[in-house]
Amino acid sequence: MPLTVYILGSGQDGGLPQFGSRMAADMHARVDPLAVRLGPSICVLDDDGRCFLVDVSPDIKEQENRLLAVPAYARRAGVNPFDGVLLTHAHMGHYAGLVHFGREAANCRGLPVYCTEKMASFLAANAPWEQLVKLENIELRSVGATLASPASVTVLPRAGQAPPLQIRAIPVPHRGEYTDTVGVSINEKLLYVPDIDNWDAWPAAREEVAKHEVCLLDATFYSREELPGRDLREISHPFITDTLAKFGDLAKGRRIILTHFNHSNPVCDPGSKEARSVQAAGFELAQEMMAIAL
Ligand SMILES: [Zn+2]
Ligand SMILES: [Zn+2]
Repeated sequence: MPLTVYILGSGQDGGLPQFGSRMAADMHARVDPLAVRLGPSICVLDDDGRCFLVDVSPDIKEQENRLLAVPAYARRAGVNPFDGVLLTHAHMGHYAGLVHFGREAANCRGLPVYCTEKMASFLAANAPWEQLVKLENIELRSVGATLASPASVTVLPRAGQAPPLQIRAIPVPHRGEYTDTVGVSINEKLLYVPDIDNWDAWPAAREEVAKHEVCLLDATFYSREELPGRDLREISHPFITDTLAKFGDLAKGRRIILTHFNHSNPVCDPGSKEARSVQAAGFELAQEMMAIAL
C-alpha cells in the first residue's frame, strides 16, 4: 500500500500571516485563506490511516482539521491523533504544538516521540514538556545509534507485504540555542531539511540530496535583499538563490521542493517573478497540503 507525504505547513516557524506583522503579505493572508502558510510540518500517511508526524507546529490544531479532510486519515483508529512523531529541534515552530498533546487536550497515551538525546533531555527537564513525559502522554525515543553514525529506525511496522516506515535522522548545522538539529530521510526516498544554517556548512549536503527521489529543503529567505540592514552572520538559513546554485544540476533527476518560507519571502506569492524563476530552474515550491506519493 502506498505511503503519502503531506506538507502540513510550508511557512517558517511563525507562518504567514506572522503574528504582530503588518506587512502587506501578512495583511493579505489575513483575508485570503489561500495565502495562509502554516508552521513547518509534514506527515506520512498510509491507506490504513496510520500517520507519522514530523515536527509539531503551533498550528497543529488547524493541521489536524486539514488532515481530517483526507479520507484515509479520517478513518484512522486509535486513541492518539498520530502513531508517532519526530522532532527535528527545539525552535518554536517545530515542537511548541506539543502543548496540545497533554491532559488539557488530546491526552495522548504513550505516543512515541523520536528525537536526539539533547532534545529528549530538554523536554524531560523543562516545564511544560516534562509533564507530558511524567504523565506518559509521550514516550521519548532515540532517533537511533549515535548522531555521528545515524541508523534507520522503524517507526511504523506495517502489515503484509507493505514495507515498514523507517526514518533516518541526519544531523545538520543550525542555530543550536537549546538543542541540536536533525533533518530526516523517510524510507531513503524523501529527504526533509526544514532548517539549516547554510549548505556549505553541511559536508554531506550534495551526497544526501543525490540519494533521494524527493527533497524538501529550507527556503526561508529568497535573497539578501529581503533583509536590509541585517548582519548576514545572524541569518541561520541559506538563501534560495544559493540553493538554486548549489543543487541546480541535481534538480534534473529528482524533485527538489522548497519550503519553510518566511512571511517576507516573495515566493509565497506563486505569481511573483521570484516564484517563476525558481520553477524555471527546475525546482518546485511547497504548497499547503501538497501530497507526495512515495
Ligand atoms: Zn524553523
Ligand atoms: Zn530552527
